[in-house]
Amino acid sequence: MSREVYSKYPPELNEEQLQYLITNVKDWSIANGLAVRPVPSWISKDEDPVGSLAVTAPVTLFPSLFPRNCFEQGLGIQTAYNELYAAIASNETWLKQIVEELVEVDDFIADLWKVHQAVKKEGYVQDTTLGLFRSDYMVHVDPTQSAAKPTIKQVEFNTIASSFGGLSTQVSKLHNYLLSVDAYPEETQSIIKTSSLPPSTSVPSLAGGLAAGHHAYGESRSGSPLCVIFLVQDPERNVFDQRHLEFALLNDHQVRAFRVPFNKIMSHTRLDEKRTLLYTPPHAPKKTWEVSLVYFRAGYSPDDYSGKADWDARLHVERSAAIKCPSILTHLAGSKKVQQVLATPNSPHLARFLPDKNRAAEVFKTFAPIYPLDKSEAGLEACKLAQNPESAARYVLKPQREGGGNNVYRKAIPDFLKDTPESHWPAYILMEMIEPPALTNTIFRNGEVQKGGVIGELGVYGVCLWKTKSGEDGVQEILENRQAGYLLRTKGDQSEEGGVAAGFGSVDSVCLVDI
Ligand code: ADP
Ligand code: MG
Repeated sequence: MSREVYSKYPPELNEEQLQYLITNVKDWSIANGLAVRPVPSWISKDEDPVGSLAVTAPVTLFPSLFPRNCFEQGLGIQTAYNELYAAIASNETWLKQIVEELVEVDDFIADLWKVHQAVKKEGYVQDTTLGLFRSDYMVHVDPTQSAAKPTIKQVEFNTIASSFGGLSTQVSKLHNYLLSVDAYPEETQSIIKTSSLPPSTSVPSLAGGLAAGHHAYGESRSGSPLCVIFLVQDPERNVFDQRHLEFALLNDHQVRAFRVPFNKIMSHTRLDEKRTLLYTPPHAPKKTWEVSLVYFRAGYSPDDYSGKADWDARLHVERSAAIKCPSILTHLAGSKKVQQVLATPNSPHLARFLPDKNRAAEVFKTFAPIYPLDKSEAGLEACKLAQNPESAARYVLKPQREGGGNNVYRKAIPDFLKDTPESHWPAYILMEMIEPPALTNTIFRNGEVQKGGVIGELGVYGVCLWKTKSGEDGVQEILENRQAGYLLRTKGDQSEEGGVAAGFGSVDSVCLVDI
């Protein structure tokens, strides 16, 4: 198939066709939990005082075209990425050097490290860690080569609270459903067909990962029944995404999970003398549960920590005997600084953590160049690139922060640096912009239909469960290492940020094309 397919996609719909498609999207989404709580700017607190309303999640009406080779490349290397990040998270000596460079300029990283140090001093009582990872990519077409083949380049690697694994299974089912009820016009039959729409297995795979973590904990130490805790933000608009995993954990694995807001973990749990984590649900206080696994869907952003009480809560969980998804060192391994250190041209670190040369070469192909903004050789070069408006136009400047809305793009970088004291520059990394091919799609969000140029971001989920050697650097044993489904997030090409929950984008699935 030639690239021309891109210019004719998606097809034009007449009014009848559009209404038929949207009616199906709306009804299927609500019937199947492809939903979010509404933004307050759409439905105010006055209109929904008890928070009982849900609305369709922002979705694309059509699955976005995606090169088949790029899709297979992303899924194929996930287990290598899992292994890489498990190895990094298990090497405290190496992580320490990275963190030491940042403690002066980044309070959040410094505070996370303090939690680790406090637990280390006392001794960890859990040596197994669960990672539910998501590696994010964009399709890159080298703008300097006219016949360049598309490849994928990594945007970032998420080691904590990787979201949308619940909704991504649903949106790939939605697009398949729309195909099966002829909501896509006949002329797209050669493009949108069952064989081009791979299902995303993220719900069963991630729930399977949580179940594996739960079982790896072993027998109850207190005699109380075992449970998993989903540590969550409150309020949480993206609650159904999380609920899909919770329901699959119960239905497919008979594992009970409770949702506990981050700011309630101290009052609803306690540690016994062996640091077993015990949970007493406020709705049924007669029965106590022993926590096998704490799954963090909160605590990843500085905004989740308003003071000492929140840091005490993080320490409380980290000290406990529960398996953490993720441990604090795994959280730190996901910082953008680590990604930069791996992806700086001529970096020796990838080979160290991923000794298999072929696997390392495949991972390396997905790196876009990333530079520090410090006094190293690469750093001084990057400072020059970032201050010059012409060269800065090919870069994005990122702080360590997770969760969207923090990046500085292209020509805005030089002025931003002028306003930032030079001593703070090392808190940022400078990354080459990935240049995706021009695509069009229609996004249905907040009840509105928006058609136009879009940019897609592929997320590949991974499950990794591993044991560390107590008191030593290195992974002792990998218990589980699997690719765990995919997500496509699609945003308008006018918005540089891609966060769906943050309100810029939509969830999508791939329509594979051979180019
Ligand atoms: P966050 O932790 O905020 O999610 P990301 O690194 O994912 O940080 O950046 C947010 C968004 O910025 C991405 O979803 C993507 O749309 C855009 N972005 C980040 N890095 C690049 C890049 N190198 N090239 C193009 N777009 C990028
Ligand atoms: Mg991101």
